[in-house]
Amino acid sequence: MDRSKNKFKITPKELLEFFIERGELTVPLISKEMDLSMPTTNKLISYLYENNYIINAGKGERNEGRPPSLYTVNNNIGLFMGVDIKKDYINFSIMDFGGNIKKNKTCKYVLENSSRGLKNLCNLINDIIKEWGINKTLLKYIGINIPGRIHSEEGISHTYFSFLDDPITEVLEYELNLKIVIENDTRAMFLGELFLEKYKEKNIVFINIGWGLGSALLVNGETVRGKDGFAGELGHFYAYDNEILCHCGKKGCLETEVSGSALYRKLMESLKKGKSSILSQKFNNNDKITLSDIIEATNSEDLLCIDIVENIGSELGKHVANLINLLNPELIIIGGSLAATGDYFFLPLRSSVKKYTLKIVNRNTNMVLSKLNENSGSIGACFIARENFLKEMVI
Ligand SMILES: [Zn+2]
Repeated sequence: MDRSKNKFKITPKELLEFFIERGELTVPLISKEMDLSMPTTNKLISYLYENNYIINAGKGERNEGRPPSLYTVNNNIGLFMGVDIKKDYINFSIMDFGGNIKKNKTCKYVLENSSRGLKNLCNLINDIIKEWGINKTLLKYIGINIPGRIHSEEGISHTYFSFLDDPITEVLEYELNLKIVIENDTRAMFLGELFLEKYKEKNIVFINIGWGLGSALLVNGETVRGKDGFAGELGHFYAYDNEILCHCGKKGCLETEVSGSALYRKLMESLKKGKSSILSQKFNNNDKITLSDIIEATNSEDLLCIDIVENIGSELGKHVANLINLLNPELIIIGGSLAATGDYFFLPLRSSVKKYTLKIVNRNTNMVLSKLNENSGSIGACFIARENFLKEMVI
């Protein structure tokens, strides 16, 4: 077979991406898997090696003759920060070029659509850079997840920080003097799951139930963004004739009954009526009760919290059943902070899904709780940051 015609089949950048995907590789293995001649592979490897994109990682397995050299990506090319904004806090992660997560941290934060909220965000990012001793020239990109409608390519956040005249990415790049990419929080969490858990399934529905409710979809191996990147707004499906105003401005959205904010509201209503809970004392003292407090109380067997969580799980199940009937997915992943309540949430959800799906459609659908849980968003944001760096990289 004449392999010389494949000489220009791949670029050094594509080979670098292959290294990122596969880890350690040898010249014979690359030549075989990418259908390249040995001289072409050697030339590409030399280029990446001489420019410090890859390093030597010892010796590979020998078939005949001398064992070939193993190469792997140089983790020190750059660092990528993931910033996952939640209602009451932000999760931060930092990752090297090879995809190794170096550190995670949670900081208190109040998400509000105001210039104060934006200023606090900038201050927190600067504080973390300082605290972790990050050399800013090595920090190549920051990925920031923001709840709500996000136009990632244009860098515009339509729900939070919507008062800005310019795209939020431009404003933050100016303030921080760093490259910024934004993504919808749920899609970033889903990408974190996909990158780290390496799911084989090609049709997946990811549900993010935190303060709000969102979903992200993988259909035939492709993430679904929709025309402007707004696909997956499960929380704003019309679902209830309940006269409860959603933060989106409409009434009766699914999120008004099925979300962390609904859990909070229902608990407050119950406590006001005098029902007892381990959070009663905090409530009576007018202390702030957070979603994390409620999740902790649920896991500490607080019956009032468990009742509400179970009800929310069961209600969500009806709509997950609709998604299963619509999309026939192979896998449903339940993520977000409410997933931390485990079986209290998951068992009623599973039972309700079973009750409301068509058996023949549901029989091959597996449903799991997210394993990454709390850090999936900030880790996903790190990967999005690296993807953007690679996209703009000229080699
Ligand atoms: Zn809504």
